[in-house]
Amino acid sequence: MSKVIYKNLNTSPILAVNGAGVWLEDASGKRYLDTCGGVAVSSLGHAHPRIVAAFEREAKKLAWAHAGSFTTAAAEELAEQLVGASGGLARAQFLSGGSEVMELAMKIAYQYQCERGLPTKSTFISRRQSYHGSTLGTLSISGNAQRQSVFGPLLPPAEFVSPCYAYRELRVGESEEQYATRLAQELDDKINALGSENVAAFFAETVVGSTNAAVPPVPGYFRKIKEVCERHDVLLILDEVMAGMGRTGQMYAYADDGIVPDMVAVGKGLAAGYMPISALLISDRVHSVMAQGSGVLGNGQTHVNHPLACAIALEVQKVIAEENLLATVRTRGEQLRSWLRESLADVDTVGDVRGRGLFVGLEFVETRTGKEPFRGGGAYAAALKQEALKRGLLIYPGSGTVDGTHGNHVLFAPPFISSEAEVAEMVERFSAVVRAVGQ
Ligand code: PLP
Repeated sequence: MSKVIYKNLNTSPILAVNGAGVWLEDASGKRYLDTCGGVAVSSLGHAHPRIVAAFEREAKKLAWAHAGSFTTAAAEELAEQLVGASGGLARAQFLSGGSEVMELAMKIAYQYQCERGLPTKSTFISRRQSYHGSTLGTLSISGNAQRQSVFGPLLPPAEFVSPCYAYRELRVGESEEQYATRLAQELDDKINALGSENVAAFFAETVVGSTNAAVPPVPGYFRKIKEVCERHDVLLILDEVMAGMGRTGQMYAYADDGIVPDMVAVGKGLAAGYMPISALLISDRVHSVMAQGSGVLGNGQTHVNHPLACAIALEVQKVIAEENLLATVRTRGEQLRSWLRESLADVDTVGDVRGRGLFVGLEFVETRTGKEPFRGGGAYAAALKQEALKRGLLIYPGSGTVDGTHGNHVLFAPPFISSEAEVAEMVERFSAVVRAVGQ
């Protein structure tokens, strides 16, 4: 009997023993084709020779050094690289996971307001149908009923506005521009109702990830949102823990939205799963207020700016740049979306195929024309996953797509190194899974 605590407390997961490229192998020798990078993590696949070599090289140098006393070349260079690509952010700190950097973003947002002499600016606004992490702080700003689970009573209060979810919420006759204006007005109204002297920050996933499967904003949405935030002196904090680091075909997904936020969080793909590492990038304005105020960041954790993790993340980022993988991500993403649409054109329960780059969502519906939320719930997601595993395919299905309760989806986030033939095989196998499970 295993001594490990699993997510599902009553069943053992598969024993994974090997990985090569986009394939994983279990202890019986069965191979699985990965359509989702685990959970949008494995952007370079497994056993990438440059990363393997980097481990050997870097582990010989330095495993760990306390960030209170030391910095390292790897942390400095990684920060330089991430800041340089950010379009205007100034500083970065590295932690171990997405929840940690989102929690740090919440703390810095409030510390910043306090150090400006505005301690009443303490309210956080987020969006329904979102996920920002598993700590009590980040869960409180996650508009995700499933993940909040029984913990509701423990969560600090937070405010919510509508997501930007054009497939379901764009009104008949409304243009995308009008829709973006309506959503920005909703945020404006919310801040006015709370009083801008009480609001610290607005949080959003640039492209929504696991909650409802790769939902991109409509053009102009974030420009209008940023304008509202600036007018009310509210920080705009983007969560790109899933969408960042090349997943959408840009280092930062917001590059396609024509804005730069006050802070951005990245994680999962930062070291492509070879190391648990995440980063929070902040603007010069936010950093300067704290630096010229107390001069001390009100957060400390053991593995801050972890030398080996930074070194591996740096090598991952170099591979992405030198192998021109952002362009590959855009091409493969187009292929994945168009092949999914083609191969499932005759399946009326496939309602929407969307996303950016290799961040692709498929939403199930009762009928394509009616768009009624699919009634399968968690049971359908589980059936898809089981059938896929049986057929040697790793997929990331979910339920509660529409409102936390109704709807089903699948999120695709394959490795950036997926070949055209591998993407075609993912689509072929997935199509067979959908047909085998039926409705
Ligand atoms: N933010 C987003 C958008 C995520 O998708 C996730 C994880 O799925 C998190 C935050 C939390 O990251 P982690 O699970 O690494 O703590």
